[in-house]
Amino acid sequence: MNIKEIIRDVPDFPVKGIIFKDITTLLKNGEAFEFTLNELYNLCKNKGITKVVGIESRGFIFGGALAGKLGVGFVPIRKPGKLPYKKLSETYDLEYGTDKIEIHEDALDSTDKVLLHDDLLATGGTMKAACNLVEKLGATVEQISFVVELSFLNGREKLKTYDVRSLIQYD
Ligand code: AMP
Repeated sequence: MNIKEIIRDVPDFPVKGIIFKDITTLLKNGEAFEFTLNELYNLCKNKGITKVVGIESRGFIFGGALAGKLGVGFVPIRKPGKLPYKKLSETYDLEYGTDKIEIHEDALDSTDKVLLHDDLLATGGTMKAACNLVEKLGATVEQISFVVELSFLNGREKLKTYDVRSLIQYD
């Protein structure tokens, strides 16, 4: 199955000049959803993963499904102000300004081998900040997976010490 053909390009969203990769067209297609989930699962199934960490919000969809398939727990990394309990924060640079993500301080420990998941790798800033949060809790980043990689933005460079996988790439 060619999931590249199923993902929709939306030009000039959310701002002019960005081609937004809209995965909702993939999510609503049952066969494509199952295929994508199985492909992601095949990448991580024999790695001794103990937790899947997903990044708000589209990382929750396949991240949650993968946790269920692996039979391990799911941990959300969220935008500021959303998590109710004690948390750690990480600030990272955007093209203009900064952004912040958070994780509960008791979400992981030093025994955890983590699969980090998000829908899309662009510049890699968000995922690098997520790796920092996981490591601050003493856990190990075992694998990082994405459905889509915008290779031309070179996000892998920021993540070069990790095992980074993506199902489809745009050069
Ligand atoms: P980055 O930190 O630059 O790697 O950005 C990654 C985050 O931004 C992911 O959570 C993506 O969902 C979102 N994102 C960035 N660029 C796009 C794009 N062209 N299409 C869809 N989502 C994007």
